[in-house]
Amino acid sequence: PLVAVPAAPSAAETTPVYLNAKMPVERRVADLLGRMTLEEKIGQMTQAERAAVTDDPTKVATQRLGSLLSGGGSVPADNTPAGWVRMVNTFQEQALQTRLKIPLIYGIDAVHGHGNVHGATIFPHNVGLGATRDPRLVERIGRATAEEVRATGIPWNFSPCLCVSRDERWGRSYESFGEDPALVSRMSTIAEGLQGGRLGRDGRVLATVKHFAGDGGTRYDASVAEANEGKPWWEQKYTIDQGVTVTSRADFYRLHVAPYLPALKAHRVGSVMPSFSSVDWTEDGVGNPIKMHANRELLTDLLKGRLGFKGFVISDWEGIHQIPDPGEPDNTGLTAYKVRTAVNAGIDMFMQPNNAPQFQQLLLAEVQAGRVPQARVDDAVRRILTAKFQLGLFERPYATLDDVDQVGSAAHRALGREAVAKSQVLLKNTGGALPLDSDASVYVAGRNADDIGNQAGGWTMTWQGESGDIIPGTTILEGIREVAPKAKITYSQDASAPVEGADVGVVVVGETPYAEGYGDVGGPECGWCSTPQQEQKSLTLQPADQAVVDKVCAAVDKCVVLVVSGRPQIVADPHGRIDALVASWLPGSEGAGVADVLFGRRPFTGRLPVSWPATADQVPINVGDADYRPQYPFGWGLRTGTRHGDAAARALDKAQAAVIAGRAPADWARLIADADHALLTGDRDRALKLLAQVSR
Ligand code: BGC
Repeated sequence: PLVAVPAAPSAAETTPVYLNAKMPVERRVADLLGRMTLEEKIGQMTQAERAAVTDDPTKVATQRLGSLLSGGGSVPADNTPAGWVRMVNTFQEQALQTRLKIPLIYGIDAVHGHGNVHGATIFPHNVGLGATRDPRLVERIGRATAEEVRATGIPWNFSPCLCVSRDERWGRSYESFGEDPALVSRMSTIAEGLQGGRLGRDGRVLATVKHFAGDGGTRYDASVAEANEGKPWWEQKYTIDQGVTVTSRADFYRLHVAPYLPALKAHRVGSVMPSFSSVDWTEDGVGNPIKMHANRELLTDLLKGRLGFKGFVISDWEGIHQIPDPGEPDNTGLTAYKVRTAVNAGIDMFMQPNNAPQFQQLLLAEVQAGRVPQARVDDAVRRILTAKFQLGLFERPYATLDDVDQVGSAAHRALGREAVAKSQVLLKNTGGALPLDSDASVYVAGRNADDIGNQAGGWTMTWQGESGDIIPGTTILEGIREVAPKAKITYSQDASAPVEGADVGVVVVGETPYAEGYGDVGGPECGWCSTPQQEQKSLTLQPADQAVVDKVCAAVDKCVVLVVSGRPQIVADPHGRIDALVASWLPGSEGAGVADVLFGRRPFTGRLPVSWPATADQVPINVGDADYRPQYPFGWGLRTGTRHGDAAARALDKAQAAVIAGRAPADWARLIADADHALLTGDRDRALKLLAQVSR
């Protein structure tokens, strides 16, 4: 030909390496990083709240945001699964308008199922899952939760909390799997269920272990608590929540860091959230607390160094604002000092819900002044981009409506119901009061019998949660009606209806929802909140609830009390009228699981994940303490049904009876619980080995 035909441009020339899905992730990250300006890098390190950009979604592009979150209760106007997909896509569209078209990563707290989304399956809070002692069950729950979260277009979950709750006055104690680090470690399989190992598997999410570390070990300061009395929570000073863990390094690692090790060492979790709290190492001299958000030893030397963590660290909600800046005595705002301290300590992405631009300006100036090394910024961005590539966000930035019917699916609800049944702990069962006959006459009372909001607790629809009919699902009362259609049920919430001819009373009492802080439900309607022992108030059954218990139990032959709460509650029974006492925890949307064990459709197998105190002033009380005299020890739980003929099970029952009678050390309860679980899961050898230790 007379005219030379130019060769077609090769793929390599048209498509930048980072947009080529065939290239290894490492090369794509390096290529993209090489194209980014400092401002773009800092953008990737910033996470804002959806509420801060909803009025004007173009802020996602103009602020070059790397991420958005929904805090508890921050939901779109259309709070259906499809509404979430559309909302996330609207923001994603903005992110893809930026020069390099880097997709956004959206994160949320799905801490007991996808609690913000109407219609989702709400699983028991972690304390109840700890009672199941079943790592495989918990893993399945993680997986189901991931499926629901992913179905709404969200690839990242700020869960699980691997906190070890050592003091139940902490308002987050229900987010803990228990007081024992070994138990919490075993339950960390939930992270495996959420993330599915390496990132990017279908129907899984990026999991976040939190709050690293020591959030459950903070010291309760009575004087601070006293000064807080009567104030609304937002004016209160921190004492137990976000407070200080005072301990030796060895104890801190043993109690609070250990539960993170299985997931981190196996590289099964892609992000870590530091704790709001501080640690005060006793060997450095008490009085030098270090905020975990500024703790380089933990975040960089240990996590990224010795443990080889390849994921990224996301700060908690304005967590860096709390780093004490010597130049700012009231310590409320965000300063250059706080920003550089946090970045240099090892935080990669910053949850700055409402002040992303201010954070970005401060960090930019710190890098330009050389106080934050450019290499540290590159390291942070490399980690964040790696997760985005691995999750497939560059290839599939938009969510589809294909999976929305996974949210609240029948299969997930059945799993929830199974978990609820397995989480129930039978504390007392005089004369075999439980299980109930399916044709019994049952008088049901108490404000938690027919209240799905109370059953679900905090982090449900709103941050604090709410009483009432806030989500679809089954209340305990509805569950009883479903499971025992032949039973004659009378329901009277406040026990005002007469008890005529009932064989049995079922009284369901406990807590109303709360999140964080002390768990003060407070509010103007809360007369019992201003008692002198305010700090212990929520561990003693509220007077109105106790009155319903007293009234019903005095009127029936057989009285069953269920405690629906995030932590142990002290129930008075001076006349010994309570025949059966059950810790139901916060079961969530599937109340029928409670009815299943009440009527013997499933056995009681749950075991206490925390010690159940005899009196409020025993708290904090933990297995292994000197002078350990709880009402029910850690690991306690009676069984019903199933295995009467089994000699090993009988031996365990005998050992357990010895513990409760004070004829055997309370520590045995722990071994018994492990042995029982081994029996239940068919590991007879292990069960017999453990049994040998308690039958000496
Ligand atoms: C909590 C975190 C949570 C974050 C985002 C904070 O108040 O401490 O656990 O992930 O809010 O909602």
